[in-house]
Amino acid sequence: MLPPVPRGRTSRYSGILFVEAGINQYYYEMSNIREHCSWVHSEEKEAATEKAKDLIRMSVARVRHLEPLREFDLPVNKVAIVVGGGIGGMTSALSIANQRHEVHLIEKEKELGGMARKLHYTLEGLDVQAYLKDLIGRVYKHPLIHVYTNATIPEATGYVGNFTTKVKSDRGLTEINHGAAVIAIGADLYTPTEYLYGEDDRVMNHLDLEEKITNRDEKIVNAQSVVMIQCVGCRNEERNYCSKICCSESIKNALKLKEIKPDVDVCILFRDIRSYGFKEDYYREAAGKGVRFIRYEPENKPQVEPGEAEDGRPVLKVTAMDYVLGKNLELDADIIALAAAIIPSAGSQEISKLFKVGFGAGRFLSGSPCQITACRFCRGRRLPVRDSPLSQAYIGNGRSGLWGCRPCFNPSCK
Ligand SMILES: Cc1cc2nc3c(=O)[nH]c(=O)nc-3n(C[C@H](O)[C@H](O)[C@H](O)COP(=O)(O)OP(=O)(O)OC[C@H]3O[C@@H](n4cnc5c(N)ncnc54)[C@H](O)[C@@H]3O)c2cc1C
Ligand code: SF4
Repeated sequence: MLPPVPRGRTSRYSGILFVEAGINQYYYEMSNIREHCSWVHSEEKEAATEKAKDLIRMSVARVRHLEPLREFDLPVNKVAIVVGGGIGGMTSALSIANQRHEVHLIEKEKELGGMARKLHYTLEGLDVQAYLKDLIGRVYKHPLIHVYTNATIPEATGYVGNFTTKVKSDRGLTEINHGAAVIAIGADLYTPTEYLYGEDDRVMNHLDLEEKITNRDEKIVNAQSVVMIQCVGCRNEERNYCSKICCSESIKNALKLKEIKPDVDVCILFRDIRSYGFKEDYYREAAGKGVRFIRYEPENKPQVEPGEAEDGRPVLKVTAMDYVLGKNLELDADIIALAAAIIPSAGSQEISKLFKVGFGAGRFLSGSPCQITACRFCRGRRLPVRDSPLSQAYIGNGRSGLWGCRPCFNPSCK
């Protein structure tokens, strides 16, 4: 008989008791009468008792075949690899290297930066490119970080604390022995097949719009009317999740458009506005500056077709049902920006197989406790983003409890 032990700790505590009694702890076997009988069958006492007897019989039968196992310590290689050289990966690499561990940072593109290369300003007004330049500079200058660009990983083998990964890159073929792997391969943007995207160059995604606003592209500066359509490619049957970034991105672009050309007509067609946390203030600011928010229902999506405005200029005619006014609206758009969904990174299948990392909601990589014990951490954007987009990297930090600070675009956060 064993004494009562804290809930949820039964097998561990009982194993310890075996050790203290001088018995090999792997002889221990548990019949879980409490959870598998008393709790789940509290209304059927007789049947529960019979089941308990069966469980005990099965445990006794199993114990007869148990063998003693021996535990031993394995050396752990202190070198880490980081797969993915976006903000998440670079911040991980710096954080590990600042704790005096050697890091190999593996990026498939020819330059570091990831998605942030396409971002220029944040809703709060921070300069993303300046932040990125500084971060990349710190990565390259760090004596303990080795950067591999144009890199692919043909093979990854090993076990807890001792892995070997082969990397083909600009440096040739390298074999890296390491104890930890941080997977920070980020996410991609959905390529829309709807609303004339790819057929008419006046239709673009919200990242392209940001790029063109930053470059003061003529078409944008001269536009009289810009229509943004939200939830393109997600919150549907195929991808039943919210990308969590695009409402804020559209509000950000709308405010920027109003800043450079106050009389431009900006209209955002949305299903729900999900500008998380304090970003709600920017939604109010945009509404205050005359940005029109019009809700549409998924079963009655906006329609887009080429047409002509009353003044004769060629436009894209956007028809949408306004549920507040209860009637169909026709909008003339010089530019249409689509809030395209965030989708899993193209190589996530291969990375998942190589590093035995599972998938979570939306087929984004997840980090389960078993991967964490195996020293493989998912960092950076591995899910549709939460309130602060870069908080996923923070989650990776928090889980490992090892790698240090949270990456963000805040210049005061080094
Ligand atoms: C439209 C939009 C607006 C945004 N606005 C903001 C904002 O205002 N503020 C903010 O904080 N964040 C914003 N974000 C989010 C921000 O871009 C991301 O949170 C951040 O850049 C993610 O960094 P990451 O390192 O996790 O991923 P990524 O930047 O996607 O980097 C992943 C890297 O991994 C590499 N990679 C992928 N597969 C492999 C592989 N198999 N092997 C090697 N390398 C690989 C990729 O090439 C890439 O360089 C926005 C994102 C979008 C899409
Ligand atoms: S953030 Fe907004 S636009 Fe993006 S999927 Fe969610 S609700 Fe739709």
